[in-house]
Amino acid sequence: MTLAERAADLLRGVGVDPESLGGSGDVLACSSPIDGSELLTVRAHTDAEVAEAIAVAGEAFTQWRVTPAPVRGKLVKRLGELIGEHKEQLAGLVTIEVGKISSEALGEVQEMIDICDLAVGLSRQLFGRTMPSEREGHRLQEVWHPLGVVGVISAFNFPVAVWSWNAAIALVCGDTVVWKPSELAPLTALATSALLERAAADVGAPPGVGPLVLGGRDVGEALVDSPDIALLSATGSTRMGREVGPRVASRFGRVLLELGGNNAVVLAPSADLDLAVNSMVFAAAGTAGQRCTSLRRLIVHRSVADAATERLARAFASLPVGDPSEEGTLVGPLIRPAAAEAMQAALAEAVASGGEVLAGGEAVPVGAGGSYVRPALVRMPSQTPVVLRETFAPILYVVAYDDFDEALALHNAASQGLSAGIFTRDQAEAERFLAVADTGITNVNVGTSGAEIGGAFGGEKETGGGRESGSDAWRAYMRRSTNTINYSGSVQLAQGVHFG
Ligand code: NAD
Repeated sequence: MTLAERAADLLRGVGVDPESLGGSGDVLACSSPIDGSELLTVRAHTDAEVAEAIAVAGEAFTQWRVTPAPVRGKLVKRLGELIGEHKEQLAGLVTIEVGKISSEALGEVQEMIDICDLAVGLSRQLFGRTMPSEREGHRLQEVWHPLGVVGVISAFNFPVAVWSWNAAIALVCGDTVVWKPSELAPLTALATSALLERAAADVGAPPGVGPLVLGGRDVGEALVDSPDIALLSATGSTRMGREVGPRVASRFGRVLLELGGNNAVVLAPSADLDLAVNSMVFAAAGTAGQRCTSLRRLIVHRSVADAATERLARAFASLPVGDPSEEGTLVGPLIRPAAAEAMQAALAEAVASGGEVLAGGEAVPVGAGGSYVRPALVRMPSQTPVVLRETFAPILYVVAYDDFDEALALHNAASQGLSAGIFTRDQAEAERFLAVADTGITNVNVGTSGAEIGGAFGGEKETGGGRESGSDAWRAYMRRSTNTINYSGSVQLAQGVHFG
């Protein structure tokens, strides 16, 4: 069975007709990174169809905003159930379309189920506060209200989980959601969107709560510039965020940016080396280095640098690189040939600036058509520009430090601020790292990737400052209204002002 036939089968399994995919615009190139083969014919949505989707979501919002939040939760509960029932099919599509190994693809779908669980609980906990009024017979409170239509632009490397982080929360908050997925992953998006439609029909929610629009940057820009999109949540490269952020701000829209990372681990002399190395191999090589949270920099104390790099080099050399749908593979393909070229260019630049490739970096022949590489470990004399740039491929740069302040400074030298880890048994070091590392996610004896949905997810600096998923990230999807209620029967002004 070809990958195209398999993708068609998986789509049928979630109720999507593979003969008619997408809108009526241009054909989107839809191929698999596994072998470069063409998958199915998918058409982008035209300008008019995108405008229609935004209008439909706006119309649905008028109904959805007045639906009680716990009732809205029933839609997300049903969505989570349907995703659970179709977990294997969704994960199969993730593997075919973006090349994740099966276990990681299943993990991505599990994350969707988890966020639905969280959002259902949240639907009864959209708490506001009351505060004492300084005026007698007055009550002061803040209440959270639905915001409007949320636009979600997502990246290829988490083709469905990122949408669910936004959509599950936005839907219980009373918003409707227009989703533009990566042009590299339309099939998983079509499958997911079909499940949302079914969930909406099952619980009697308006059909326009979550339309999907397919296409490239131009379709994304239509969401960016639409005054009817109250919040634009955009996940992707820092380049994209730099364009999107000011454009949304210029129309006073709200923006939530989840952009590139350049994540580091500090490996201290007291660390448990086995624990650290095992954690770092997953963080650096998992998803073939194509996670926003992938480990890209190892800042290691000079006294343990050789021991750590020897172990890492051995591990990198033995990683099974290959077809992601085959049992035992740990490193699948890069998304497209351009990613492999960018990796080779970065390695050449690293070597030219004094780096030494200790392991990996070479192309791995796995049949025809795919871009497979062995994760690279590169010792660097310092953090040269290539180290401080995010190359979206599996390269782990190693830089040595002598004292802890230097390690902290090296860590914070990156312009991105997503995820960080320290491996140490020294509690004071761990606490200092937690306090000083300027990242949105900061771990102790845990690698940089693989966050849980319970905490807020996102990063500082060029990562964009957005927070999604758990904790109080839901507030970004609502508007806050502060209310003063006067039951005293008399006019009283605050601050003791008398007027007339
Ligand atoms: P990308 O920036 O090329 O594309 C991301 C999305 O933005 C796509 O849907 C694309 O069509 C759209 N887009 C691009 N330019 C646009 C514009 N000017 N206006 C509107 N939409 C536009 O990113 P990618 O290659 O798909 O993903 C990899 C990048 O995403 C990496 O930098 C990675 O670190 C980042 N990422 C970040 C997070 C996070 O949560 N911080 C999560 C996943 C990926």
